[in-house]
Parts: sequence; structure tokens; C-alpha cells
Amino acid sequence: MKTTVPPPRSLGDGIHMIPVPLPFRAPPWVNTYVVETGEGLLLIDCGTDWATGREALTNGFVELGLSEDNVHTLLVSHLHPDHVGMASRLMSEWGCRFVMHQRASKLVDYYNDTQGYYERFRQLAATHGMPDSVTAETTSYERPDYIPTIDRPDHTVTDGDLIDLGGGRSLEIVHTPGHEPAHICARDTLTGILFSGDHVLPRISPVVMYETYLEDPLGDYLDSLQRLIAMEIDLTYPAHGSIIAQGDERARQIVLHHDRRLLDMVELVTADETTAWAVTLKSFRPNLDPISTRMAFLETISHLEHLRLTGRIRDENHDGQTSYLA
Ligand SMILES: [Zn+2]
Repeated sequence: MKTTVPPPRSLGDGIHMIPVPLPFRAPPWVNTYVVETGEGLLLIDCGTDWATGREALTNGFVELGLSEDNVHTLLVSHLHPDHVGMASRLMSEWGCRFVMHQRASKLVDYYNDTQGYYERFRQLAATHGMPDSVTAETTSYERPDYIPTIDRPDHTVTDGDLIDLGGGRSLEIVHTPGHEPAHICARDTLTGILFSGDHVLPRISPVVMYETYLEDPLGDYLDSLQRLIAMEIDLTYPAHGSIIAQGDERARQIVLHHDRRLLDMVELVTADETTAWAVTLKSFRPNLDPISTRMAFLETISHLEHLRLTGRIRDENHDGQTSYLA
């Protein structure tokens, strides 16, 4: 099935959307947003680094009657290749500044180090019961050309910072760790519109992957969703899919989705002392491709660790193997 990437369009209030195709099946494109500012243009997210995506950006600016030479700032929601992949190319081509959350400065080293990532993953896989053959399959990929290593952001922001858009209008940074520790949303102070990155998406709930250097990524994610609910976010412009009319309502639905999954996992663990790998097999549909298998496994560990840290289940460690029990 071939997915058609929607055309660029102006959304009003000096905001434009350019959907940029991605070199994989899902998600098929990333929504980049161009915001008009007093001094030029600000771009939010940019896609992976490949010619088709780069062309889509250029064509998008032309179709919208905007000049990409006027982009002074690239703001990136988080350190995943479908959002940040092209950042270094655009910085050098446009001479724009590259802005991310402060945590990204350190995490760029992890982003750039595929072998280090695989090593940490193999360690987790061995501890949590993934069979060696599956581990080998999910860690055999070379880093593709469209995910080059990237430079550190040359400007960083933290929660509550304002990026001045001119005329008394700003983007307010909301740090929303969970899907990725440096993830930010940005709220337009003029319209209240939230640029949500992957934090809140229509229809799908973003994967929350465990990492050895994180303690409770799912707990972080759920807290970050509660922030949007408390902020009573309405119109939300996500990085994938279509615009969300009621961002806080969508956040509530995603909280419920995780609550159900947590309850299901407590039941599985209560029925039988079990490893994260065994829980993965019972919680996700069979025959996932290797990369989806890795994501499902890391999402499962995030859930089980959240349950453990909140005292709903416990773990036991024997001979380097972790199992969970009620
Ligand atoms: Zn994404």
C-alpha cells in the first residue's frame, strides 16, 4: 500500500505545515511546521537526511510562497531521526541556529553511537530473557545513510523558556520527557496552539522505550501527559498524522491506554513469575519485524519497571536474569 503524503498548506496565524516524506513505511512522513516571526522564519522538525525529504522541504517553501533562505531557527522536538536527522545539513546550508532541549546536548553522544546503543541493548536483552537469535536479528542493522551523526544543538532551552517570535508573541517550551528524554512541546502564546512533536499523536500512542540510563521513562511520560491535561491544551499540531482538535482529551485517552496495558501486565505477572521477554510475547501481536520487536520489548520493560518502581510488582535476579513477580 502506497501512502500519499499530503500537500503543504497554510494553517492561519502565520503557521504553515510541510509534510516531509520519510524513507520507511511507518510513519510515512513527518509534519514540519514553518512559523513566521518578526525576523524571518522558524522551522519545527525536519525529517531524515535524504534527497526526497530535502526536495519536499524546498518545494513546500516555494508552494507556500516562502523563502527557505529566511529560516533563522530550526527547533527540534526530540532526538529521533525522523525529526532531527537533517538538522546538521540544514544548519550548514541555511546558517540557521539549531535549538533543542538542554538534555539533548548530552544525549547527542548516544544518538551518534549506534554500536554503543546495540551494546546496551544486548545487555538488557540478556538480562530480560530475549533469546540470543532474536537479539542478534534486532541488532544487525547498519546505520543507514539517511541517519547521519549530527552536531550538538548550538542553542538549548529548558522548561518555561520563551522563544521570541516578535510582536509580543512567543513559543513557550514545555519539557515533556517520556517518548524521548529531551522531548519538548512548544505552545504558541498568541493562539494557544501546541506543537506536540511525538508526545501526543492522533490514533497511535508513541513508543516509550526503556534505556539503561533512564529510571522510569513510562512514569516520566505519564507525568508529561498530565501536564498537557492540566494546561487544558486545545488545538494541537502533531509531528505525524492529522491535526488534533483537543490535545488534552487525546492525552487522557493515551493515559487510559497505558493504564489498561499496566493492568494487563500485572495480571500476567501475577499468574506466573515471568521475564520481560515472555510478557512482550503475550502483550504484542506475533510476527513483528525485528525493529518493531525491539521497540515492543523496550516498551514492555518500561511498563514492568514502572510497575516495580510504584510497588505494584517486584523483581528477582538470579544468575544475571531478571524475572518479575507479584
Ligand atoms: Zn516521530
